[in-house]
Amino acid sequence: MRTGTTPGEIDGVVQRAKSLGLGVQLNLGTNKQVVAILGSNTGQLPTDIFAVLPGVERVTRIMRPYKLASREFKTENSLVSIGGVEVGGKRVVVMAGPCAIENEKQLMEAARVVKKSGACVLRGGAFKPRTSPFSFHGLEESGLELLARAREQFGLPVVTEVVDSHDVGLVAKYADILQVGSRNMQNFALLTTVGKSKRPVVLKRGFSCTVTEWLTAADYLLAEGNNQVILCERGIRTFEDSARFSLDICSIPVIKRFSHLPVIVDPSHAAGHYSLVPAIARAAVAAGADGLLIEVHPNPKEALMDGLQSLTPSDFARLMEELRLIAESVNRYI
Ligand code: PEP
Ligand code: MN
Repeated sequence: MRTGTTPGEIDGVVQRAKSLGLGVQLNLGTNKQVVAILGSNTGQLPTDIFAVLPGVERVTRIMRPYKLASREFKTENSLVSIGGVEVGGKRVVVMAGPCAIENEKQLMEAARVVKKSGACVLRGGAFKPRTSPFSFHGLEESGLELLARAREQFGLPVVTEVVDSHDVGLVAKYADILQVGSRNMQNFALLTTVGKSKRPVVLKRGFSCTVTEWLTAADYLLAEGNNQVILCERGIRTFEDSARFSLDICSIPVIKRFSHLPVIVDPSHAAGHYSLVPAIARAAVAAGADGLLIEVHPNPKEALMDGLQSLTPSDFARLMEELRLIAESVNRYI
């Protein structure tokens, strides 16, 4: 809309869109007011039917399948605020902790060491999506209770995965951030329910999904009015099998170009091996990631899962020191 447009003019555009059976979302920013017109057949409508309306400055076709996650819809970077921690600003937000919550001692010790080294969000899985039905699937609600206790004791917001729409209410009772895992990136029913919860979300990239599919999945969350979306690159499957996955470092600047959403990187699942994690983490910060999600276990040798890719407390402490230097050199801080 033109600068200085009136609410009546905006409403005129909204009503015209609705009369054509189209969906609408408003982005009423301080400088720019944007009306996104949504529908599967917008490609067949001439843009002039909106361009002629009073107050309209310009009609831009967004031919990409995602709309709400796009930079055309919102030009300024989005910030996601979690208990006083902002993701998408100058600070590189480090989220760390074990793959799975195993018991009270393990989680509290993990929380203590990651906090001491400067992490500002604690991670830990209570519901684990496993490739095999016979593997450990997490402590479920008793794990969430431990997580809530760790948050209280250490003053760290917590991120944990939700794998099923039916558990969204339960997980949201305990978690500051809901994580949608790689295997669920295109579980559209789950995305819609998580969107309705209005809780901040970490949306991991499906390991066989393109950036376009990933941003289109983010639209499911945004379409429910949940704009607290953080994307997480965690590696994709390619022909290369020397690491667990191939970290797509390109996706960071690509996301920055095409989307307003913050993007963090999980070097642990990409690496699959603790020795590879620090280099990938450093590269991510250098490439402009807004944060990291790192697996740290007080004693990786005893971990029930993902021990091989988990950092020890001392490895994590060293990595955080290195990351501080890199962050500074790209005009950020940790
Ligand atoms: C996790 O973060 O523990 C996890 C299962 O990650 P992903 O969904 O990326 O495999
Ligand atoms: Mn894991």
